[in-house]
Amino acid sequence: MVDKLNHPHVGVMEAYFDMIVIIGAGLVGAVLAMHLAQAGFEVKLYEQRGDPREIEPQLDRSINITLCERGFRSLDLIGVGDLIRKLCIPIYGRVIHTVEGEAYQPYGNRNEAIYSIGRYDLNCILLDCAARHEKIDLCFNHKCLDIDMHTATLKIQNEITGQIHDIQASQIFGADGAYSTVRQKMQRLKRFNYSQTYLNGGYKELILPATEWGDWPLQNNAIHMWPQDNFMLLAFPNLDGTFTCTLHLPFEGQISHASITTYEDYYYLFANYFPDILSMIAPHLTRYVENPIETLITIKCFPWTFKDKIALIGDACHAIYPFYGQGSNAGFEDCQILLECLKADHGDWGAALPKYETRCKVNMDIIADLSAEHFEVLQKSIGDPTFRLRKKLERKLQLLHPDYASLYHNVSFTCMPYTEALRLEQKNGVLIEQLLAVEGIEDKLDSPEIDSYILSLLFDCVAERKPF
Ligand SMILES: Cc1cc2nc3c(=O)[nH]c(=O)nc-3n(C[C@H](O)[C@H](O)[C@H](O)COP(=O)(O)OP(=O)(O)OC[C@H]3O[C@@H](n4cnc5c(N)ncnc54)[C@H](O)[C@@H]3O)c2cc1C
Repeated sequence: MVDKLNHPHVGVMEAYFDMIVIIGAGLVGAVLAMHLAQAGFEVKLYEQRGDPREIEPQLDRSINITLCERGFRSLDLIGVGDLIRKLCIPIYGRVIHTVEGEAYQPYGNRNEAIYSIGRYDLNCILLDCAARHEKIDLCFNHKCLDIDMHTATLKIQNEITGQIHDIQASQIFGADGAYSTVRQKMQRLKRFNYSQTYLNGGYKELILPATEWGDWPLQNNAIHMWPQDNFMLLAFPNLDGTFTCTLHLPFEGQISHASITTYEDYYYLFANYFPDILSMIAPHLTRYVENPIETLITIKCFPWTFKDKIALIGDACHAIYPFYGQGSNAGFEDCQILLECLKADHGDWGAALPKYETRCKVNMDIIADLSAEHFEVLQKSIGDPTFRLRKKLERKLQLLHPDYASLYHNVSFTCMPYTEALRLEQKNGVLIEQLLAVEGIEDKLDSPEIDSYILSLLFDCVAERKPF
C-alpha cells in the first residue's frame, strides 16, 4: 500500500506500509532482497552507486570471493546457487611456494572444493537475478542520508538530480557494508556497543594476465601462497585465465608499504622473496606502484536490530578479515537465518529480529577472531614444518575416521555454527598434541603401528561418546 503523506518539514512523503527497504545493493543486500521477495514481501533496494552492470569494472580492483557450503546453502534456497557455481573456479587446495619449492595442501580429504569468483562479477549476477523478481525494485544512484529510527523513515538522496525524498517503510535493513550509514545512526542509541580494529597492514592487487595461449600462468584449481614472516603474496585464479595477485605488507617497517614504493623496490622484493613468480610478474609490477593500498577492518557491534523496524545485516554489523573467506558466506547465511526466524514467529518481526541477532552474533564474534588468527597462521606457520606435519596428521585422522574433520573443513565444507566448529577444534587439538608427542611421528606416519595408535585414540573418543 502506497500513501502520500503530508510531512511537516519535507512536504509530500512516500509511505510504504507494506514495503521493506534495504540500503545497499552489494552482495548481501541483493541476496536479502531475493529471500524477502520469495517470502512474498515487496522490496525496495537503494544503492548509492550506479548500476555496476552498466559500468566498466575497475582493473585490478576486483577482489576474489571464495564461496563455500554455507554461502551456497543460502543461494540455493533462492534458486541461484547452480547458476553461480557454473561461473566459479573450484579450488581444491593451496600451493605453498617457499625457497625450497612448492608444496600442495588439499583443503579436504574427500575432494571438497571452495569456489572462487570475482566480487564484481558476483555482484552483477546477483543483481541480474534480483532484477528479474517482480517484487524487487532496484534504485541505483540513491543514497541513504539519514533515518528516523522510530518511524522507519529514510532520507534518500537521488545522486544524479540531488533531490531528497523522505520514504517511510515497514522495515529497514542496513546492508550498507562496513561503513554503514544505518549502523552509524544506531550507534547514537543508548547502550549500543561498537568496536572496530584495522589490520596492521594493507594489500595491493594486480592482475597477472593469461598466457599468450589463453591458459592460466599457474596451476588453476588452487590458491597460491608465498608466506613470509610478516608479509605474503596470494594469487587467486579467475575464469578468464588471469590471476589476481594480492600483496599483503605491513604499513611500516623494513619491508612495508612505506619502504616499498618504486618499481625497483617491488622488483627486488619479488627477486628476494618470491623468485619463482618474478619473470611472470615483472612486466606488470608498475601496477603495484600505481594501485592504492587497501585496508582491512573487523567490526563488532550489538544490538543489530531496533524494535520491529530496523536491522543490520552482512558487513554492516560484522565486517571480518578475509583470511577464512567467510565474510559474504556469513552474510548470505544471515539472510537465511533471518527468514527462518521470521517463519518460526509467523511473520512477527518484533519476535523474530531479536532471535536473528542472538543466533548470528555469537557465531560472528567467533569467526571474526578465527579470521584474525588465521592471518597469523597463513603468514607465519603455513611454510613451517610443524604446521605441515599437523596438516598431515589431520588428513590421516580424517582418512582413518570418517567423522573426523578439521576446523577448516567444518567452517568451509559444512554449515555447522562457527561456535560448534570451534568446540570440535578444541577436541581435535588434544588428539593432535597426543600424536605430536610420539617420537619420530612423521617418519612413522604410514606404519601399521601408528594406524592402530590413532585408531585407539579415536575409539577412546567414540567410547566416551564424544563425537568429532
Ligand atoms: C580482500 C577481500 C577479500 C575477501 N574475500 C572473501 C572471500 O573469499 N569469501 C567471502 O565470503 N568474503 C570475502 N570477503 C568479504 C566480502 O567482500 C564481504 O563480506 C561482502 O562484500 C559483504 O557484503 P555486504 O553486502 O554486506 O557489503 P558491501 O559488499 O560492502 O556492500 C554494501 C553496499 O552498500 C552500499 N552503500 C553504502 N552506504 C550506502 C548508503 N548510505 N546508501 C546507499 N547505499 C550504500 C555500497 O555502495 C555497497 O554497494 C573479502 C573482502 C575483502 C576486502
